[in-house]
Amino acid sequence: MVTRLSRLLTPTLREAPADADLPSHRLMLRAGLMRRLGEAAGLYALLPLGRAALARIEAIVREEMDRIGGQEVLLPIVQPAELWRQSGRWAVYGEEMWRLRDRHGREYCLGPTHEEAMTDLARLEVRSWRQLPLLLYQIQNKYRDERRPRFGMLRAREFVMKDAYSFHRDDEDLARCYRDVYDAYARIFARCGLDVRAVRADPGAIGGHGTHEFMALADAGEAEVVFCPRCDYAADVEEAEVAAVRADDLAGEQGRGGAPRRVATPGAHSIGEVAGALGVDAAATAKILFYIAEYADGRAAGPVAALLPGDRQLNEVKLGNRTGAVHLRPAEQGEVPVPLGSAGPVGLHDVPLFTDRRVAAGGPWVVGANDEGFHLMGVVARRDFDPGTVADLLAARAGDPCPACGAPLSCRRGIEVGQVFGLGTKYSSALKAHYLDAAGVERPMVMGCYGIGVTRTLAAVVEQHHDDNGIIWPGSVSPYDCAVVPVGAGEAAARALSAGERLTEALEARGVRAVLDDRDERPGVKFKDADLIGYPERVTLGRSLADGLVEWKGRREAEPRLVPLDEAAGRIAERVRAAGGGVGPQRGATDGR
Ligand code: ATP
Ligand code: MG
Repeated sequence: MVTRLSRLLTPTLREAPADADLPSHRLMLRAGLMRRLGEAAGLYALLPLGRAALARIEAIVREEMDRIGGQEVLLPIVQPAELWRQSGRWAVYGEEMWRLRDRHGREYCLGPTHEEAMTDLARLEVRSWRQLPLLLYQIQNKYRDERRPRFGMLRAREFVMKDAYSFHRDDEDLARCYRDVYDAYARIFARCGLDVRAVRADPGAIGGHGTHEFMALADAGEAEVVFCPRCDYAADVEEAEVAAVRADDLAGEQGRGGAPRRVATPGAHSIGEVAGALGVDAAATAKILFYIAEYADGRAAGPVAALLPGDRQLNEVKLGNRTGAVHLRPAEQGEVPVPLGSAGPVGLHDVPLFTDRRVAAGGPWVVGANDEGFHLMGVVARRDFDPGTVADLLAARAGDPCPACGAPLSCRRGIEVGQVFGLGTKYSSALKAHYLDAAGVERPMVMGCYGIGVTRTLAAVVEQHHDDNGIIWPGSVSPYDCAVVPVGAGEAAARALSAGERLTEALEARGVRAVLDDRDERPGVKFKDADLIGYPERVTLGRSLADGLVEWKGRREAEPRLVPLDEAAGRIAERVRAAGGGVGPQRGATDGR
């Protein structure tokens, strides 16, 4: 059956609502893929084109999960509080969890994730080591009452997640499965046309063995990722190691040797002012930053000092890890024994000092003299001051050497589209999900969990694939492969329309998902909409039809080419296939619910 645009609910908009500020958010609204539900933040309806694109992503996810032995299940979204009490997370999950009661007053939540529920299933059904390993997944709506729902589908309060959980006899088998899922994720995102980097990440609240986040590179991303263009090293800026450089790399015009010189720097406080006053590079200065650290172990809160190159940013997470503080806040004038604008490490007492390893290894440095209006030049760690704890304290930045291979790192923002976790026995121990090993000994199952934000992936695809005129779908994800656009007036219009119908049928017969723009609109409107919606291919049937020709144009091409009408379907089908589009040999998409 021919799909007619006149009958399809695709309400395109010339302007996006004012509060939509990211390309994906704007374009998904303008192209009629989605609509917000009433005035509620972070709740979106997917319209037919959005649903179709999502279904294609889901199909790719299913295929790759099935390929590594995943079994699809579907657990209730509503979960009893009791399970979360057993894991200890009912009390700690906080306001992000959507909680509700039934008519008897019993407590439940709308699942933000399913570790507890899946572990419950495994503890009921798995008895023996012979039943392991098990990799279960589902594609389902998840609920998180995000503090700041925003960016459309990128951070919604109800969203579609593919979540998977694996159960193993031991750590080695978990490691094998983790690697399988990691590889499957890399294939899934590549097939969706996404440029991603797998980043070693902090295990955060879920806890356990290793974890990687899959980051789709995009300016809209909330995370900052450094990655190596030469090898596969990638890390969150918070986590990235900054390699120490050799001492002589930083030896500046101050020369080495000799005692520090005290110099007057009246009115100069910022690094720029000090470097300017002394005629040295900011990279030759070392700055000291004071924080008030709060500890969880009963130690009294107090100041700590971090010493780092003047041209670099402190990574507060790294400092926090080194100090053992649970919270750090910048100290204010009067909270430390030295004047903040002229502070330095020489003669600094009573404040624990953390020295970045570049400062410890390099120099000599210009530092504050702990005397208002004075600095010291030619200062070297260990000779002139006790560096205290030496550690990597820097926020990584583009150009830093890759810790793995030494090539200069690149830096981009990233959208977290997926994450893999080695959980270990955290949940199985808490919920007593045990199995009997070959010797008949009862052991907790070793677990992993793996998530993909399916709706977030859809938005990330739009974020990476668009231009000023609209979306440019990768063939594998596009809701339709080809728009057939009859244009013209009067009798010519009728001829174009009926030729368009036949061409649409011919395309469909070749497995191309085609849509016929049979609307009574001017050609300019039809072309604008086709560009906005972003069909990979477009065929226009107009004046040249009299000569048996149609105009064929790929979404990325500037100009159409003329091709004979009777060759069009075959040639388009070929290109659609090559781009991963069309009705594949792959299993058809079914609804995730
Ligand atoms: P984030 O740090 O972005 O809040 P998360 O670490 O809380 O994400 P996970 O618990 O790892 O997310 O969930 C698995 C996947 O679900 C994420 O990788 C992401 O793609 C997706 N996801 C999480 N929260 C949302 C949301 N509010 N809207 C859309 N997708 C989300
Ligand atoms: Mg995460």
